[in-house]
Amino acid sequence: MRVPISFPILSLLSCAVCFALAGGATCLAQEGDRAAERERLVQEIARGGQGAPRQSAAPPPSLSGDAAGAGMPMASSRSVQEHTGVRNGAVLEAIRTVPRHLFVPANMQRDAYANRPLPIGYGQTISQPFIVAMMTELLDPKPGSKILEVGTGSGYQAAVLTKFTPNVYTIEIVEPLHRQAAPRLQKFGLGADRVVHGDGYFGIEKAAPYDGIIVTAAADHIPPPLIQQLKPGGRMVIPIGPVHATQRLVVVEKDAGGKVRSRSVHPVKFVPLTGGPREGAAKR
Ligand code: SAM
Repeated sequence: MRVPISFPILSLLSCAVCFALAGGATCLAQEGDRAAERERLVQEIARGGQGAPRQSAAPPPSLSGDAAGAGMPMASSRSVQEHTGVRNGAVLEAIRTVPRHLFVPANMQRDAYANRPLPIGYGQTISQPFIVAMMTELLDPKPGSKILEVGTGSGYQAAVLTKFTPNVYTIEIVEPLHRQAAPRLQKFGLGADRVVHGDGYFGIEKAAPYDGIIVTAAADHIPPPLIQQLKPGGRMVIPIGPVHATQRLVVVEKDAGGKVRSRSVHPVKFVPLTGGPREGAAKR
């Protein structure tokens, strides 16, 4: 007698074969857009999965003097509270819907949903998903607000931002990375006027001012042009600290009167922000 095999049983069987042959993870990858892997990542981010390398007891850098951006009105306040877990539902939904594997090189596909940074070439990285989520939560972009990202890299962070507002500008200093990211971001509604090649230390003057600025490379001071391009009532999230060491994620807020306050929220480790006035002068 032949036993009819129903569709659910067949798919269970094929999944079991897949697990047996390739060790589980690949089976989920075959779901097409890898939604199950993303969901696991979202749960980890919500629990505060930031991984060991980002933990540090390093003291926050002083935000007076150089770090404050010479000549800018600056009042400083500091929070010692560390960020544990991302609770903002809209941020978690953005991580859930943006396919990170589309922003990761072919040889890194297996690890696209690991909660860690990955190399993208030219000595650069796509940031750890927890850090992308945390920085987005801190930036708190509103529908319709205008956002500048400095450090396009793979384009992933910019794509996540488009889930909040279509008015996203992003700038990358490494031209081949810019060229790779541009077609990816076109699919998220960001055309050539929004995805720019250049030195983001100086922001994108022609589209300023911005409600929010997110800098995804570490600087030893807050670039004064970025403070200038921030709207009154606007907010910037930027890693500040020494190159190749632990830095602090800093939230900078400009009040209605143009007064700037900053608070340090979390230890992080970012690649350095290059460019700026010194490199510009050296090239001339
Ligand atoms: N946001 C990126 C993503 O989602 O893939 C990750 C950014 S990676 C950690 C930092 C990026 O900042 C690198 O691609 C680097 O080339 C870029 N960068 C460094 N200095 C820059 C500058 N002055 N202007 C623009 N981009 C810069």
